[in-house]
This record gives sequence, C-alpha cells and structure tokens, in this order.
Amino acid sequence: MGVDSGLPDFRGNQGFWQAYPPYARLGLSFAEAANPLHFERDPAFGWGFYGHRTNLYRATVPHKGFRIIINWIVRNRADYFVVTSNVDGQFQKAGYDDERILEVHGSIHHLQCLQPCSPAIWPNQEQIEIDLETMRADSIPKCPSCGGVSRPNILMFGDWSWLPDRTQSQENRFDRFLENAGEKRIAVIEMGAGTAIPTIRATSERLGWQHENATVIRINPREPEIKPPHISLACNALEGLKEIDRLLVYGVQ
Ligand SMILES: [Zn+2]
Repeated sequence: MGVDSGLPDFRGNQGFWQAYPPYARLGLSFAEAANPLHFERDPAFGWGFYGHRTNLYRATVPHKGFRIIINWIVRNRADYFVVTSNVDGQFQKAGYDDERILEVHGSIHHLQCLQPCSPAIWPNQEQIEIDLETMRADSIPKCPSCGGVSRPNILMFGDWSWLPDRTQSQENRFDRFLENAGEKRIAVIEMGAGTAIPTIRATSERLGWQHENATVIRINPREPEIKPPHISLACNALEGLKEIDRLLVYGVQ
C-alpha cells in the first residue's frame, strides 16, 4: 500500500539502499538499520533513520486505493478492520477509524522510553531535522519520565524492549471484531503481504480456512499464489483495487 503512495520499498538490500544511499556506503542492511542497538550506542544515528521516516510518512498523501475501500465499506454498510504490518500510519491518515486498526509491528507515530522505565506509550509530536549526508538527527527525543532517550514504539529486529501494550489493545479489538462477525460473509483483502515476514499472510490464510464464509483476495505482484476458492491478483495494490472497483461497477465483460 505504501509503495503506491510513493513510499520506498525496503524489499532486498538494493531497494533499501536505493532509498537510503548513506546506508549503502556504510554497508547497513534494512534489518541492521532498523535495530534498537543504534538508539543505545548512538541515538543521533538511530533517530536519523526513524526521524527521516517520521517526516516522510507525515508528508505522504495516501493514494486513491484507501478511498476505494472506504467507498465499498460505506456502500455495503459493511463492518471492517484493518490489519497492517506497516508502521507509517497511512490508514489513519486516509480516514480509517483508529479503533479499527491493528498495527502488528507498532507505529512510528508513537514513542516509548528506550529502557523502558515505564509502560508509557505516547504520541510522537517531535520535530526532527536529519542531515541527509550522515543520516544523523539534530535532536534526540527524550522520555518525559526519566529524561533518557526515547524510541519509536515499533517492533525492530533483535528487539527485546519493544512495549507491546498498544498493539495488544488493538489485537483485543480485532479479536472482538472477529467474534462479532459470526456467520457473516467476510472479504479479506490482502495487499502486498510477502512470505519473508509472513505475519499478515498467515493471518489472512487463517481467516480463509477458519471462517466458512470468508474469501481471501490476495493482491501481490510477486507472490500472488493462493488456493481456490480464494482469489489471486498478480499486481500492485492500487492497480488491483481499481480493477475490483471497475468490476463492481461494470461487471465482468
Ligand atoms: Zn524513561
């Protein structure tokens, strides 16, 4: 979903390094850059990556596909829930209800203490300037309780101090949503969920075989395979959503 709004694709070292040439010079992969160790060893460097992304996601306008799905929900008076591994907050920005979103890896728009000294998670209202040559931040967001370094409430690689409480509350709401779904028909629209970190893919497959009335529509340009009766679309998210929308309006020609 993010890529179609113009956000960089972190898939593979080449994709990541194209988006962030300074990390190519340092030989740092995405998994190595997205690591809480930087906040401990060199917070200005850790915040360079996450501060840059915070600014990027704040500046990004969600593409039309977000609106297409909202229109389906409204037109069908459907209930909905968003489950995403993106940390960019684009669903909230596109007008989806914050109470109907599960961010499995957390959100860049929320912070926590690095230690952490308390279970507090608070909104990210920091203004951070980044030097694009060095990828270093000009200031370090602080924890309001202990005055130490704060970090985004995002599950990073090799991360033992991520606070799961906010995501856990979202997960509880998602569980209640599924309980309430009962025998209703469910359309699971899965977009760009890969096999490398399969959380999202596994979730839609589970819904597909646990709920008799659920159909999964897998939209994926590289790994679209799914067993019938579920549906596979080998294209980008926006392209797939537009095509489904066209079929809903004009029918199969
Ligand atoms: Zn603290």
